[in-house]
Amino acid sequence: MMDDFDWPDLARRFGTPAYVYDGDALARQITGLREALHPDLEIFFSLKSNPNPAVYGILHAHGARAEVSSLAELTTVLAAGTAPRDILFLGPGKSERELAACIDNGLYAIVCESFQELADIDRLAAERDVRQRVMLRVNPAYSASGSRLTMGGKPRQFGIDEAAVLEAGDLVARHPNVDLAGIQAYLGTRILDADVVVGNTTYILDLSERVSAALGIRLDVVDVGGGLGVPYFDGEEEFDLKALQAELNPLLDTFRAAHPGTRLIMESGRYLTADAGTYVVGVRYTKESMGERFAVTDGGTHHHMAAVGIGSFVKRNFPIELLAHGDGDGRGRGDSHGDSGGVAEPEAGTGRWTVTGPLCTPNDTIGKKVALPALNPGDLLGVRRSGAYGPSASPVLFLSHGYPAEVLVTGGEARLIRERDTTDDLLAKYRP
Ligand SMILES: *Cc1c(COP(=O)(O)O)cnc(C)c1O
Repeated sequence: MMDDFDWPDLARRFGTPAYVYDGDALARQITGLREALHPDLEIFFSLKSNPNPAVYGILHAHGARAEVSSLAELTTVLAAGTAPRDILFLGPGKSERELAACIDNGLYAIVCESFQELADIDRLAAERDVRQRVMLRVNPAYSASGSRLTMGGKPRQFGIDEAAVLEAGDLVARHPNVDLAGIQAYLGTRILDADVVVGNTTYILDLSERVSAALGIRLDVVDVGGGLGVPYFDGEEEFDLKALQAELNPLLDTFRAAHPGTRLIMESGRYLTADAGTYVVGVRYTKESMGERFAVTDGGTHHHMAAVGIGSFVKRNFPIELLAHGDGDGRGRGDSHGDSGGVAEPEAGTGRWTVTGPLCTPNDTIGKKVALPALNPGDLLGVRRSGAYGPSASPVLFLSHGYPAEVLVTGGEARLIRERDTTDDLLAKYRP
């Protein structure tokens, strides 16, 4: 769990709503993952989960490499000093500019998602008189249960179907400027069960050998995807790294013995950043409607779309806590106990609160009937485990509120790592 901060002080200095990241927790998370997993398994951070350069900077400083899917993400990791050989570019609809940037920057590999894209890469590399290493993204004929979002064994816009890859015999000969030398597969996200990751990895390692034999290619690299999850909701349990270590590492040892020169890659986004982030919002109004209590806050689902709930009928809540009572009401502050950051013991009025935002839609519900102490305007609430797929994966322009501030706290020092959007920012791009 992340450290607690002087939330009222952070709110005074940086305002709310804001995303606050615990830099020390980020460092611990990547270090813990690297230490648990096979020393030859390289962790590539998926910038999609949190594109803030300061967040990437910490992960990179602790050994994360980069998996990017846009020019801005590529520029971010290059600017952070990432060696091109530690960058992968992936995505089902890459532009010609993006492909050219991969080649011109000498990226280790482009993860290619279609035969047409392969032809494009071949042409662009030929124009530059170079050969570009390419990994084929394979859509496996295998479906991982236990993942919240199954990616294999189904029609997908991602990658090339396993059967089509295995039948594409003359692929190498037809693309002389492509150095086809590995595969990638990604079988799901939010996986909380180590056995599922082991099952996926077993399948992908075997698939890599079958593809290598069928196409007659070297295996410079195998990217086994990843998708390690964090628990958000009641009843979910922490991913068991020890169990993964016990089962996965021997598997990789065996593969390593057969393929000593092959780079082994695991991608990770959510697992590395989710825990380190708290979305901090201030209560603006409290009210009651037909027996239900509401706390209307200055933040909302335009910054935290995931809190709306992922495809389930019953809304499940992210962990939401009272971080601090406001200045005005004379309660709470100074009664600090444990790690709950200046929050008083539950008192009369503790009960269920529906936490909403400023948007004019009933969907703008951050938490439904959350157990919280009595709330008043000025109180600070925190949505925990919010460091992944936060504002960058939310409709920040809805109702023209714009991006929230982002703050990084490392070694007790807090600094702004993204300014909140101003009205000028929001209006500057419109044309009459
Ligand atoms: C989104 C994505 C990831 C990151 O997934 P997490 O569940 O956040 O770890 C990794 N690889 C691919 C191909 C992805 O699309």
